[in-house]
Amino acid sequence: MNQEASVLQEWDRRHFWHPFTQMACWGDDDPWIISHAEGHYLYDIRGRRALDAIASLWCNVHGHRHPRLDAALQEQLARVAHTTVLGASHPPGILLARALSRRTPECLQHVFFSEDGAEAVEIAIKMAVQYWYNQGQPEKCLFLTLEDAYHGDTVGATSVGGFPLFHGVYGRLHFAAKHLPSPWKLYQEAAEDGSAAVSRWMDFLESALRSEGHRCAALILEGGVQGAAGILPYPPGILAGAAELCRHHGVLLIVDEVASGFGRSGRLFACEEENVQPDLMALGKGITGGYLPLAATLASEEIFQAFLAPFGEARQFYYGHTYTANPLACAVALENLAIFDSTELLDILPGKIRHFHERLLQFSSLPFSSRPRFFGLMAAVPLRDPHTGAAYPYGERKEYQVCRRARDAGVYLRPLGDSIVIVPPLSVTVCEIDLILEVLRSAMAEETQR
Ligand SMILES: *Cc1c(COP(=O)(O)O)cnc(C)c1O
Repeated sequence: MNQEASVLQEWDRRHFWHPFTQMACWGDDDPWIISHAEGHYLYDIRGRRALDAIASLWCNVHGHRHPRLDAALQEQLARVAHTTVLGASHPPGILLARALSRRTPECLQHVFFSEDGAEAVEIAIKMAVQYWYNQGQPEKCLFLTLEDAYHGDTVGATSVGGFPLFHGVYGRLHFAAKHLPSPWKLYQEAAEDGSAAVSRWMDFLESALRSEGHRCAALILEGGVQGAAGILPYPPGILAGAAELCRHHGVLLIVDEVASGFGRSGRLFACEEENVQPDLMALGKGITGGYLPLAATLASEEIFQAFLAPFGEARQFYYGHTYTANPLACAVALENLAIFDSTELLDILPGKIRHFHERLLQFSSLPFSSRPRFFGLMAAVPLRDPHTGAAYPYGERKEYQVCRRARDAGVYLRPLGDSIVIVPPLSVTVCEIDLILEVLRSAMAEETQR
């Protein structure tokens, strides 16, 4: 290894505290330090190359160094990198707000920008609470959510999250939320009878709305799939059913499309599939094609109206950050949407997804795996001990070792619980999908033979 690389590695270990990382063993197993990327491939500082099969944590859409996104960024950079939107505005922000309001469900016409998915959720939560407050119903501040929900890592976002681990550590900081069963679990319990599972889930929702609806601000749901919980798709009908019941009981619906948005589901937004018109929607991850930190919370006309009042009545939304609606990020996000609109990406996506799912199902019969879970262009492939058929103990980090092997064979993957997740850029080719799955299969076979 060259000297520069070893110095960087040492400083990384000593000073750079990484997210979700046990720093006690960080660096022991040769983490890549990525120097650059091109298209679907990442390169580390030692010149090793791997296909980015996690889309740089589910956000890359059209590949890295896309000429149109690079150009949009450079054009904006030649104008200005950042100016505030408190008391001023700028063209990329205005044009992006307009473009998002046209491409998301029709009812969503007002766009509030932020930097990360968790913040977009946090903003939706605060908007929901203030919506009711402004209407003279401050008691409506309870949130309904799902078991195993994931909406990001800030205190507000973990309050509506459903990971027992987070609640154990930070629970004392959390506000009140009521958890409904995971639709996917009901779907499994109903032997994959979708309509039975949906109607059972709706019974849970209805009974919660009947007893708590009067003090409930909103129900928050991920768009079509519980992603971080392990790619657990909903049976069809959950989102549409939730929208209808919430409206009936006077409770807002927040759809978190941070992961499912920007084509991941096979449509531009998962809400389109069941023609759902949420009151609030959170967007992030793919919004800039994976280039820059940007997120957005979209609100319906009715929500927006509740914040309007003569100046001085203090009904406005009290929220904002230094870098809210950064112009560089907005310019890239605008071009990202333009690429969706001017290429056939969305037209060929369903075929690519079908191929992906068919190939994934072949893992069901392998001795070291079991039935994969998938939703659009995202999947989780379970790793199983071929001798027992069970998952490996958490502490053994077997899933992690599989990803290490895959990386050495040229495919960059990440473990998630007892599975390995695959979330490639949307522009991935069918050949690359086959390559990812073949490399993963070999890595699993080799690791479980040891
Ligand atoms: C990733 C994710 C978030 C959080 O987004 P960050 O940008 O990581 O804060 C929120 N909701 C869902 C559904 C996500 O997948």
